[in-house]
Amino acid sequence: MSDLESSTTIRDYIYTVLDANKNWAQRLNQTFPQYFPDPEDKQAPKILWIGCSDSRVQESDATTALPGNVFVHRNIANQFHLHDDSALSVFAYAVKVLGTRHVVVVGHEHCGGAITALKEARRPPSADQLERHHTLYDSLYHLVETFHINEIHDKDSNDPNDAITRWLTPLVHRIRKLELPAEEGTAVRIVIEENVKLQIEKIVQLGDWVRRNVREPDGRPATVWVHGWVYDFATGFIRDLNVTRELGGGSE
Ligand SMILES: [Zn+2]
Repeated sequence: MSDLESSTTIRDYIYTVLDANKNWAQRLNQTFPQYFPDPEDKQAPKILWIGCSDSRVQESDATTALPGNVFVHRNIANQFHLHDDSALSVFAYAVKVLGTRHVVVVGHEHCGGAITALKEARRPPSADQLERHHTLYDSLYHLVETFHINEIHDKDSNDPNDAITRWLTPLVHRIRKLELPAEEGTAVRIVIEENVKLQIEKIVQLGDWVRRNVREPDGRPATVWVHGWVYDFATGFIRDLNVTRELGGGSE
């Protein structure tokens, strides 16, 4: 195949997708029209899925969900940053407006984001970072931990490479505190689980907000459960990490 033919094929791939969509929609409208939600009905998803962008993870398939069952927020390595308006607004809309009561943070095996963070954590710090640690880390340890100075440091850059580094910085900090085995597969597995736990810790910090803002239709304070799962796209199974936390209601 010539370069021209090859580039035409790649460009035309998008039309293949649109054709496939047409076939799919026609078939379902004829055979199972109730698959499509009635716009008159409000959505009431039972689950907010916070997962990784990885194309091999399909939350609807994995949970056998129909349209309307799962509210979704996905990004690189399923992060939930407390300064991320995208994540915060999805969370607020799900629990306050839509009445979603189960939030699942879902990591997945072989997560490229988690592996990248692990590599970064194992990289010896640069002279610049050492200097930064020397001046800030010793005296402002807690501030560094809370506000992630590295992220603020590079905030003005719109270089996508910087964005990924900034995005994974809290996870890299967490990994540096872990005692990981040398064996790569086991270390990655631990990082993936620890990553899920880290995001849950952040969501738990929204407990006060949930208590003050989220009510059941009858006015009682609502309870929101946050669960930690790991999905294995090679087998389709979800593993429950049994780290469920309870927010709002009568909880602390
Ligand atoms: Zn991933």
